[in-house]
Amino acid sequence: MTLSTNPLERQAAILQEGARRGASYLTTLSDRPVRASTDGLGAFDFALPKRGISDLDVLDLIDRVGAPGTVASAAGRYFGYVIGGSLPAASGTRAMLTAWDQVADAPTGPSVVAMEEVAIRWMVDLLKLPPKTEGVFTTGATMANVALLATARDELLDRQGHRRGKSLIGAPPIRVVASAEIHATVLKSLRIVGLGSDDIEFVPVDDQGRLQPEAMPQIDDRTLVLAQVGNVCTGASDPLAQIATKCEAAGAWLHVDGAFGLWARVSQKIGAALEGLERADSWVVDAHKTLNAPYDSGVALCRHHVAMRASMAIGASYLPPNEPSPADLAPEFSRAARGAETYAALLSLGQDGVITLVDRLHLLAVRLAEGVQEMGFTVPHDVHFNQVFCTLSQDPMRCEKIVKEVQDSGEAWFGSASWQGQEGFRMSISNWSTSEDDIDRVLSELAKVKARSDYWLL
Ligand SMILES: *Cc1c(COP(=O)(O)O)cnc(C)c1O
Repeated sequence: MTLSTNPLERQAAILQEGARRGASYLTTLSDRPVRASTDGLGAFDFALPKRGISDLDVLDLIDRVGAPGTVASAAGRYFGYVIGGSLPAASGTRAMLTAWDQVADAPTGPSVVAMEEVAIRWMVDLLKLPPKTEGVFTTGATMANVALLATARDELLDRQGHRRGKSLIGAPPIRVVASAEIHATVLKSLRIVGLGSDDIEFVPVDDQGRLQPEAMPQIDDRTLVLAQVGNVCTGASDPLAQIATKCEAAGAWLHVDGAFGLWARVSQKIGAALEGLERADSWVVDAHKTLNAPYDSGVALCRHHVAMRASMAIGASYLPPNEPSPADLAPEFSRAARGAETYAALLSLGQDGVITLVDRLHLLAVRLAEGVQEMGFTVPHDVHFNQVFCTLSQDPMRCEKIVKEVQDSGEAWFGSASWQGQEGFRMSISNWSTSEDDIDRVLSELAKVKARSDYWLL
């Protein structure tokens, strides 16, 4: 390839080469092992050369050495963490946005900000949240939780006469009440905003992993209540209506972490479990998990946008004073144009497409759960959404070896997990491209490994 000496023409050619290599990666992805092959990664590691190498050679090295070292999570048989894939319109948009290289702030990226704002409004409507809810895209649910927990903290302190911006050292106490199975990253977000993870009042959960409202302590108007929609092992949602009633009576702040599970709200079949969602004060959802937008993309949504803006906005001499911008709601200052990718994802699906995607993930999870139970595994929970936890009641410790064998086979990938004291493994169906055939393939591999493991016992 001869490259132009014009800088932008040259960038265009290299961008096209990157996209070409990415596209050819995708077309063979479902035929290769799901696990990564990490043997060759040493080839990345040499002293940084004094003189740079050509752009085409850089891409060649990264493709040749890096592609085999990827986990094939973009294809349909990765069931490990709740990862999701990338919808075609969203990844195509990302490729285009790479050229735009916009910073998603009003003065620096008006068009991507416009798409971000519409995407937020579409999501507020789809998820049936209060119409005046505002929100912002962040790097993920962890940072979305940070933004909202900081907002809640500031509000609860403000009520006690402790103004925003004053040090937390010596501040009046805030109580944190959370589900015993709240996601580990929420504990980290709490630590980051200075609320600690040592003093949380944990509420016991039921046999589906749902917070039990009757076991909640007395709460008051300096209490932050953290509920979860989408338990990572069972997919279950906390009973929001009952929790909201308690929070409303006490004047507590109700925050909902629904990183992957919030999307279940759109479904006629499983959405009823999220009744009362609209009564919370703040919500977190990821675009990069269930919705299948590219990484990394979380969303922070808040009913009290004035409070959120007060907690997140900054001023600087070089910033226009009265021009509102999504960055006023975000923990990040320089921001990627994530909102535009989710705009593309939502627009390509339409309302019906989002519902179909959610229902499909659920149906596939049901098919998977039925299949594993037929071969003698136990699924100790109902299939609420897209998560399936499996164990072997007689011999749970055998699961670890079974998991390892399936991973090594390359047919599928999922990992060991423990839930409510049981050892087993967890599978998440969160990729838009996963098909019935993919489910049947993982089931048939599991059946083979399980049969061999029955033999290990003899
Ligand atoms: C994944 C997840 C998070 C963290 O989200 P990131 O986008 O990885 O930061 C928080 N809560 C739940 C329930 C999750 O599944």
